[in-house]
Amino acid sequence: MGQDPTLLETRRHQMFPHLADQEIDRLRRFGEVCHFPDGAFIMKEGEVAAGLAFVLKGSIDVRQGGTISRGEPITQHGPGGFLGELAQLSGRPALVDAIARGDVEAIVLPPRRLRDVLVQEASLGERIMRALILRRVGLLQLGQTGPILIGPAGSGDMLRLENFLRRNGHPHRALDSATDSCAQTLLKRFIIQPEHLPIVLCPGGQILRNPGESELARCIGLLRPIDPDAVYDAVIVGAGPAGLAAAVYAASEGLCTLVLDCRSFGGQAGASSRIENYLGFPTGISGLALMARAYNQAQKFGAEISIPEEAQLLEGNSEKGAPFHVRLGNGERVKAKSVVLASGARYRRLTIPNLSDFEGSCVHYWASAIETKLCAGQEVALTGAGNSAGQAVVFLAEKVEKLWMVVRGRSLEDTMSQYLIDRIRALPNVEVLLRTEICALEGGEGELKRVRWRNRDTGVESERAIGHVFSFIGADPNTDWLTGCGIALDDKGFVITGANGAHLLATNRDGIFAVGDIRCGSVKRVAAAVGEGSTVVSAIHAYLARQRATDAQKAAAE
Ligand SMILES: Cc1cc2nc3c(=O)[nH]c(=O)nc-3n(C[C@H](O)[C@H](O)[C@H](O)COP(=O)(O)OP(=O)(O)OC[C@H]3O[C@@H](n4cnc5c(N)ncnc54)[C@H](O)[C@@H]3O)c2cc1C
Repeated sequence: MGQDPTLLETRRHQMFPHLADQEIDRLRRFGEVCHFPDGAFIMKEGEVAAGLAFVLKGSIDVRQGGTISRGEPITQHGPGGFLGELAQLSGRPALVDAIARGDVEAIVLPPRRLRDVLVQEASLGERIMRALILRRVGLLQLGQTGPILIGPAGSGDMLRLENFLRRNGHPHRALDSATDSCAQTLLKRFIIQPEHLPIVLCPGGQILRNPGESELARCIGLLRPIDPDAVYDAVIVGAGPAGLAAAVYAASEGLCTLVLDCRSFGGQAGASSRIENYLGFPTGISGLALMARAYNQAQKFGAEISIPEEAQLLEGNSEKGAPFHVRLGNGERVKAKSVVLASGARYRRLTIPNLSDFEGSCVHYWASAIETKLCAGQEVALTGAGNSAGQAVVFLAEKVEKLWMVVRGRSLEDTMSQYLIDRIRALPNVEVLLRTEICALEGGEGELKRVRWRNRDTGVESERAIGHVFSFIGADPNTDWLTGCGIALDDKGFVITGANGAHLLATNRDGIFAVGDIRCGSVKRVAAAVGEGSTVVSAIHAYLARQRATDAQKAAAE
């Protein structure tokens, strides 16, 4: 069977649109005409480029994978074409090399002016934005650029780093240190001992030994320092559907907006293999694809997004005009006029004593292409009975030999949508075990060998040779970081909003709002989170207007 065609083959005309002379002329007011002599680098992988370059004269060769080789040609842009992809929307380091062929004249648009084009030139902006997104998707699909991860395939740290980059839409290559000859050559060249694996070769030439996500993100320019003096109109904690919706509406309405997320954009929704009940997507859409659109949309309107960046404390601040400080994991502080709590919920863990021995390598909390590659053709167990569990069953069943669905309750009907139940019933390789719970995991050194489960009514235990367990047993609110901040929580830890006639999304502290799954009484769905995220912005405007009026009164009285 032949391979699926690449995006480069199927959507080349949208990826590399040709702009008419009049369209190029309209761009002149946004940028500056620059000249590049033959052979000059207009963009270098790993370095921040000046911006998007619209070619007037000459041509530009684009190559990928220059970190460890001379690079593979991707395309050539001539007059009417333009150089750049999503990295230039937010001023992050380039993912490709671009070299002038002949003397090149081009209009260069820095990120801020590019965002102006996207907003002010609606139809041209649409073509440019589509091209930027498709180019990024193309780079992800080709998998030849970005950082190179080298380590044992399927090891916990390799999976951690791969998942971090995948969830943040960052192209990368993962090479198995045991089997890949290129990996072995690189390890010899850089004299890397097995105990230091995995390593990451960054496009800038740095070698990181088993880095944390923050270290990696800083090295590849995904994470940048936040200006400590900036005062944001709205700091949004969490880049799930609720936080991203708030960011899109806040930034598009002119609020200076910062979004923080400690893991990746998309939140829980980003872990969903297929969302079928979100309005406007009749054929369904993967959670990551939906959330990547929202992430790009928020950046298009100028929201600053910082990932991975953990909010650790919310403090009051006596400074005029910036009543709140959000303290970050790295000790820095961000100043805010208002704060939106959108830190959602985190997966619940099974209560099995040696669970942590297998987490990250054999016990998974989402089912993506990375995990399915690990357990393709094998027998697996999945526990949980909500919609997230149902989606994962449908997704995994296509790839695994047999799937045991371990369910504590008496039926799926109590907790799962009917369309998913019907689909699961039609899957011949899925067996649903009701009134059953996983009671033991057996194996060692990060390798799961057997899973044992118990019938809750009869107490009878069964054991299967299973190497991968998927756990979807619900979520608890991510509100630990709010302890001691004076925000009212309910007995389960969800944020209470709308008390005493306040705005539905307002917490007990003026200027602090909560949206999405973190909120007590919210409907735990993508659409509800998006709705709340977009609604909160009008409450922020009203709050800021009140603050301005109070400040003006005080100033007049002084
Ligand atoms: C696998 C799965 C499948 C699902 N499928 C569907 C579906 O098909 N349809 C549907 O409607 N719903 C679905 N849901 C539910 C839906 O995804 C959630 O209701 C929705 O994501 C909630 O959005 P949120 O933005 O409120 O919170 P989350 O999505 O939980 O996002 C919160 C974000 O905050 C970040 N964060 C947490 N603490 C901090 C901190 N201290 N500092 C900085 N950042 C922090 C997290 O990293 C996360 O990215 C699914 C959920 C899962 C897990």
